[in-house]
Amino acid sequence: MTTTTLTAPAALKSARDDFPGLTTDQGKTWHYLDSAATAQKPRAVIDAMARALGEDYATVHRGVYARSANMTVAYEAARRTIAGFIGGHEDELVFTRGATEAINLLAYSWPKKGRVLLSALEHHSNIVPWQLAGWQVDVCPLTTDGRIDLDAAEKMLTPEHEMVSFAHVSNVLGSMLDESRAAQLAHKAGAKLLLDGCQAVPRMPVDVAALDCDFYALSAHKIYGPTGIGALWGRADLLDEMPPWQGGGAMIDKVTFAGTTYAPAPQRFEAGTPAITEVIGFAAACDYVMQFDRAQIQAHEASLVAEVREALRARNDVTLFGPEASAGIVSFMLDGVHPHDLGTILDEENVAIRAGHHCAQPLMELLDVPATARASFGIYSNQDDIAALMSGIERTKRIFG
Ligand code: PMP
Repeated sequence: MTTTTLTAPAALKSARDDFPGLTTDQGKTWHYLDSAATAQKPRAVIDAMARALGEDYATVHRGVYARSANMTVAYEAARRTIAGFIGGHEDELVFTRGATEAINLLAYSWPKKGRVLLSALEHHSNIVPWQLAGWQVDVCPLTTDGRIDLDAAEKMLTPEHEMVSFAHVSNVLGSMLDESRAAQLAHKAGAKLLLDGCQAVPRMPVDVAALDCDFYALSAHKIYGPTGIGALWGRADLLDEMPPWQGGGAMIDKVTFAGTTYAPAPQRFEAGTPAITEVIGFAAACDYVMQFDRAQIQAHEASLVAEVREALRARNDVTLFGPEASAGIVSFMLDGVHPHDLGTILDEENVAIRAGHHCAQPLMELLDVPATARASFGIYSNQDDIAALMSGIERTKRIFG
């Protein structure tokens, strides 16, 4: 597919019309400020998936009939598109059910389960898999403004560390990792670097070749694509060293009862009939985002973050978390109001935020709060959403006296 770079912000402004989910059943604007949980889907993704489930539907890699051969071509083209979207090569992109499964794959399949350095702001899906797979987990602290403290990481890393696994962007604080320094530190210690890119890929240009990381986890549903599909990108030489982690059809070379040999990566890690429709939708989402200049998406979200932080700070009854420069995500607490109550009242105003621990209980403990309210932006977010949020906060405050 040919892609054109539209000039934002005008292009981003009209992007809103591409998302049918941004209107309520009563035809009103839905102020959706929960894109960090999952992004709304553009018509292009919905249509591509409907076609893949309808007139184009067939299995892949198996059928001798034309429809299946065509679907196989589309499926492998989708892999190329998605890999290209993050600057990688198709042979290096393993499809998984999401970022959670991507991290599990690496935690289980990496040949030596040694020490892994995580950070205090990680999502549970970048904590629990390492624990379950038997790694020894070390935790890098944060700076006072909520970024991963790479000076501390440098002191903590030892030759025993096999892996460093950090969020590229925090799903709670929006903090952005200094990735090149993280890569340099990890590699100096002889460790590999996995970036959990769930929140970065929708919000900024990502080029794994330039990033100098070894593995990258991503999730389609955060990038305007469907749920149930994501990917682990890994350096080809490293994927080659990794044994399969799940067995079944499609991942083998030859099966006998005496023993089985396996397909090369990435197929070796993809047992069973794949999520065909979801892969097609994932690629359609990447194509959709590639219409825009991703640096402009980043600038757009940064300006919304600056605006919402300023408006919240001006109230004098809000605690703000995270650094000033954060990527499309703002966590806060309104004095005297539990985030769940705030979220419930905002819902009456057609404003959707997330309230809770955001699957980051260790971070909540560190911040010494049970939960936060979180507003997060997407390509379609605008100043009206911020105005609606602020007036909903004002109303909530009046209700709570
Ligand atoms: N890591 C981060 C930073 C996330 O925000 C999320 C989703 N909330 C995940 C991992 C899990 O991703 P998935 O839903 O694809 O399993």
